[in-house]
Amino acid sequence: MKVTILGSGSAYGVPYAGNSWGACNPANPKNRRLAPSILLEEGDSRLLVDMGPDFKAQAERHEIRELDGVFFTHPHADHIAGMFHLPILMSYYQNRNLPLYADRFTRKEIEKNWWYMFDPAINVEYSGPGRPYWTEIIPYSRYQIGKFDILPFNQQHGRINSLGLRVGDFAYSTDVRSFPEESFALLKNLKVWIVDCNCEKDQDKSHSYLEQCLRWVDELKPEMTYLTHLDYTIDYDAVSAKLPSNVALAYDNLEIIL
Ligand SMILES: [Zn+2]
Ligand SMILES: [Zn+2]
Repeated sequence: MKVTILGSGSAYGVPYAGNSWGACNPANPKNRRLAPSILLEEGDSRLLVDMGPDFKAQAERHEIRELDGVFFTHPHADHIAGMFHLPILMSYYQNRNLPLYADRFTRKEIEKNWWYMFDPAINVEYSGPGRPYWTEIIPYSRYQIGKFDILPFNQQHGRINSLGLRVGDFAYSTDVRSFPEESFALLKNLKVWIVDCNCEKDQDKSHSYLEQCLRWVDELKPEMTYLTHLDYTIDYDAVSAKLPSNVALAYDNLEIIL
């Protein structure tokens, strides 16, 4: 399986709108971060996890065309705003129906924002043969998406839950402040874990931060951990220098082979 980091940034990416770089060195290309999203590939199976505001740039860079599914972790804008481009996928690339995976709350929020894409009474211009359809995610149930055997689990993310997902010995935990016990138990024996580290210090009560991530790694002992959802307090070189050898910062376009 190949995991591509399409975006390693926090909600507003790096730099922020208006070209603010915070602590990040603008000369290092690893500090330029798009909104958080990953792509899973295995043979001809492709699963997109989240479709944020930078989807167009990410789809251009990685030629994201036909997909086996889109998995939504939760309905914050940085994870769903790229839905606007769904008609392009459906019309030009998707030669079959496209399943959209989300829990009920996320589905409702997406349907509120892009009501015209899901109302059969309205003629959305899907000129291809396929149509999008929903598959509701029940956390801790298994889903077969293309070649991927997905196990979604709940994560506490401020006032809402987000979904993490485990696929074999890989797991993705974006947008998490803490884990319910039953989810934490699912994060043992991982080869690769990608986890939210929004800020270096504990500045955002919906997200994790460096010290907490390192505590989790000590307990769970994944072979390799990548920190993602990085805001502009995290300069790639300065923070990388503080990390043990089994932890690294994610960066855009990083490919992880499992
Ligand atoms: Zn986010
Ligand atoms: Zn979020």
